[in-house]
Amino acid sequence: MAPPAGGGDPEAPAPVAERPPAPGPGSGPAAALSPAAGKVPQASAMKRSDPHHQHQRHRDGGEALVSPDGTVTEAPRTVKKQIQFADQKQEFNKRPTKIGRRSLSRSISQSSTDSYSSAASYTDSSDDETSPRDKQQKNSKGSSDFCVKNIKQAEFGRREIEIAEQEMPALMALRKRAQGEKPLAGAKIVGCTHITAQTAVLMETLGALGAQCRWAACNIYSTLNEVAAALAENGFPVFAWKGESEDDFWWCIDRCVNVEGWQPNMILDDGGDLTHWIYKKYPNMFKKIKGIVEESVTGVHRLYQLSKAGKLCVPAMNVNDSVTKQKFDNLYCCRESILDGLKRTTDMMFGGKQVVVCGYGEVGKGCCAALKAMGSIVYVTEIDPICALQACMDGFRLVKLNEVIRQVDIVITCTGNKNVVTREHLDRMKNSCIVCNMGHSNTEIDVASLRTPELTWERVRSQVDHVIWPDGKRIVLLAEGRLLNLSCSTVPTFVLSITATTQALALIELYNAPEGRYKQDVYLLPKKMDEYVASLHLPTFDAHLTELTDEQAKYLGLNKNGPFKPNYYRY
Ligand code: NAD
Repeated sequence: MAPPAGGGDPEAPAPVAERPPAPGPGSGPAAALSPAAGKVPQASAMKRSDPHHQHQRHRDGGEALVSPDGTVTEAPRTVKKQIQFADQKQEFNKRPTKIGRRSLSRSISQSSTDSYSSAASYTDSSDDETSPRDKQQKNSKGSSDFCVKNIKQAEFGRREIEIAEQEMPALMALRKRAQGEKPLAGAKIVGCTHITAQTAVLMETLGALGAQCRWAACNIYSTLNEVAAALAENGFPVFAWKGESEDDFWWCIDRCVNVEGWQPNMILDDGGDLTHWIYKKYPNMFKKIKGIVEESVTGVHRLYQLSKAGKLCVPAMNVNDSVTKQKFDNLYCCRESILDGLKRTTDMMFGGKQVVVCGYGEVGKGCCAALKAMGSIVYVTEIDPICALQACMDGFRLVKLNEVIRQVDIVITCTGNKNVVTREHLDRMKNSCIVCNMGHSNTEIDVASLRTPELTWERVRSQVDHVIWPDGKRIVLLAEGRLLNLSCSTVPTFVLSITATTQALALIELYNAPEGRYKQDVYLLPKKMDEYVASLHLPTFDAHLTELTDEQAKYLGLNKNGPFKPNYYRY
């Protein structure tokens, strides 16, 4: 397997904060990145590029430490959200469910709402009330090492997976580029993520690269039963179904971990529940575990807490904060899905409508761009003068919410903050104003303040409530203030492909890293690998990347094969 990634030369001429590391002869990811040689990146070529550590400002305000190999560790205070584990239960969904065994609450890490899955499913039509735990099922090869809703749905699931494969070019390219080599040979990966067609493509890619996988769901509602069935039919021990109870949830995780004759040596987690379970129940397992790859804000926060307390006993990779996830998930995912969420719930026309978007960060920028393109008149609110100036220069009117609240047709929150839309704002909105949230938490709109006796709630559609004032005025509240796109629309597979490829490369990197490269700490994926993830997606667009000439590379002090930007570069 040709080396892929890798930093630059240890004798780079300038510290990373001032200048990107210079090339090292033969050490770059040249081989991997050139279309001709194209192979899967491997840790062996990842060299320390700079002798210096640099402090840099993290996007959410904290201090980050850039280590010599270009990885970044950060102070835990940069991530503010709290994880909820089994012993800190949180009521998160009170809708009654069909399955008798379910409990109506479970502890769930917040990050389970940070990942976005396709809503397409055949499973809702199933009338089978029997809990999968009470069923005896076998796949066509005779294996019963799985627990899914109905193995007979495998064929439907396979079609979903095949559709997803079309939009996940980088994972498919990784399979091809491995060319029979198995960078994950011997890897035993236990995973806990949303089980969707996109995750299935990731799992089957990991399998193609040599890994054995066992998988559970990180969210009790997001599993696509037919996809889980297709994976089980293909020999993957999957323990997940839509509508698990809290007990089922932990049982499924335990079935992935507690197996005779099989012990995981890698963890792929989304939300930190799996990692927590192993810490709590099987701490000795960490002796064999080479690393954790974590996708969510919440799970990453938990890892930083463990690291700070000196309790993190293996290296961990923070996928959430890699450039390719943050820039593409937040901006492009929201740009693509905001209209879908609004349209599915309200059938509204956007042209000429007055919209106010609260927050002009990545998510707000995506929402504003989509709405502007549809002919909406878009206002923006911001607290940060830099983002505010960006909004102005992008052609949006910067206002205070109070100034436009009486006239707007739609209010969208994207701040990650709380009580951005208060009861006072809600009182002043005009009749039929649509109110929704694209931020992580359902506290951006003060929905609780609407649950008072003088207001009447009418559920007019799934995820759509009319809240009616005594004078007959009504507002249209979507998804009760939860993430609109996660609750009411699908999100683009191509964006998920970028995150999934980052996860795959993080696993390859941690699994193959020579002893000592990664300590018991939390790391960001080396920039070179971020660039590799992006490069694998370029052929989809028939995009032709310009190559640096030797002279230009020398002039800029860059390796011709990257990394092309210093770690502090903001894109
Ligand atoms: P960001 O930090 O880039 O942007 C948030 C912006 O809101 C900042 O510019 C901040 O100054 C501004 N802000 C904070 N308080 C405000 C207030 N009271 N009024 C007006 N503006 C205010 O973050 P982001 O990446 O844009 O993410 C925003 C939220 O969306 C987060 O909660 C994130 O977890 C979530 N998110 C959602 C999706 C999705 O698919 N819906 C995807 C990624 C992230």
